[in-house]
Amino acid sequence: MKLVMKFGGSSLADADRMRHCAALVRSRVAKHQVAVVVSAMDGVTEELLALADAAAAGTRAVAEAHLAALRRGHEEAAAALGEPGRVRELLDELDRLAGGIAAVGELTPRSRDAVLAFGERLATALFHRALTSAGVKARAFDGGEAGLVTDDRFGDAEPLVELSLYQVAETLGPLIAAGEVPVITGFIAATQHGVTTTLGRGGSDYTATLVGAALGADEIWIWSDVDGLMSADPRIVPGARRLERISFSEAVEMAQFGAKAMHPRALEPAAERGVPVRIRNTFRPEGEGTLIAREGDAPDGIVRSVHVVHDSGMILVTGAGMIGRVGTAARVFEALGEHGINIRMISQSASEAAISIAVGAGQLEAARAALEARLLRTGHARRVLVEPEVAIVAAVGAGMRGTRGVAARVFGAVAARGINVIAIAQGSSELSISFAVGRDAGPDAARALHDEFGLAKG
Ligand code: ASP
Ligand code: MG
Repeated sequence: MKLVMKFGGSSLADADRMRHCAALVRSRVAKHQVAVVVSAMDGVTEELLALADAAAAGTRAVAEAHLAALRRGHEEAAAALGEPGRVRELLDELDRLAGGIAAVGELTPRSRDAVLAFGERLATALFHRALTSAGVKARAFDGGEAGLVTDDRFGDAEPLVELSLYQVAETLGPLIAAGEVPVITGFIAATQHGVTTTLGRGGSDYTATLVGAALGADEIWIWSDVDGLMSADPRIVPGARRLERISFSEAVEMAQFGAKAMHPRALEPAAERGVPVRIRNTFRPEGEGTLIAREGDAPDGIVRSVHVVHDSGMILVTGAGMIGRVGTAARVFEALGEHGINIRMISQSASEAAISIAVGAGQLEAARAALEARLLRTGHARRVLVEPEVAIVAAVGAGMRGTRGVAARVFGAVAARGINVIAIAQGSSELSISFAVGRDAGPDAARALHDEFGLAKG
């Protein structure tokens, strides 16, 4: 079997955790061909971002403090694992880079990516040492060296997928066939000119699925600190349980809702080539985790999981002038888009007299201002009403498609608990139903749905 194993930051918090993960790799190399993808140690990407900002802002003491913290964490791990040389080299390089940014007093997206890349580069150097110390024959690669190429949209670069897959297969294929373990920096890649880029926050998962697709892996294991994907957040729904298998489309639908939102495109390469992805817990490696696989392979079940998005607000745009008027929705979205406001949910009735939009509570006022400026002045709408303190509840499941009566059960269960529904949205993919309720009713609505669809039972 060919495996890609990706380790997240919380699994690489210190030398001990790294040794533990190295042992997880070693236990597989005897039987399987393995490639490893590593993300930055816990909290390091945030620290690097803060370092880059402080350097550019000229707040030298702050920059020094971030550098010192980065040095401390990595040097400690390096000393424990016996890899001080390479790690010191990288830290010195980072120091010089921060100095350069401070000297010009400006942070371009390109130089920010160069700084961010150090998290994965350092962790990869350390993990490589942990593996070789455990007796595993391993070789470290930067994403670019492994063959991952992107465009030059620094900060959120887009992989040139076909080229990347081809190059990664050429570079790493023979290596794993010979029993060696490549250890690849997650999250970072390079332009065709060799300039370092990053794939966007959480991008190591994306690296893992690209590598898995390139190598024609049998499975891609995403090792983190959770047992898998859950039927609901156990802090809200006590009966929540681990999902054994779900389909790619369900997982994509759920990606927004997890404790840590998954990189939106991470599953694409795996889904396209049908390589199953397994979410596993390094703290409980004996668990089976959650397998994300192609549709037909997933078990039945109408609603599979229930989610609550807290801290939301709704905006209602109304006016008879909107009826039958082409372009109102476009104006709404343009106004919000121009102000960088992320839309969580949209609904418009067929009467066309109103559009409801849910946004994050922190963006509610900005959204209101943007919509008032764009729509009221021009007479495209009469009123913009705001409803703060809303929770969005979403039920996800591929089995809803074409099944009659799901909406009736969803809203029946919610009504039975005396909860008022403020707005509803369902896409025609029928993979999920979302609705807004008052902030405090969110958890109760989620419990109602979890019960109604029997999600606590195995
Ligand atoms: N280290 C990067 C981040 O924190 C990438 C990743 O962890 O996947 O976003
Ligand atoms: Mg991270």
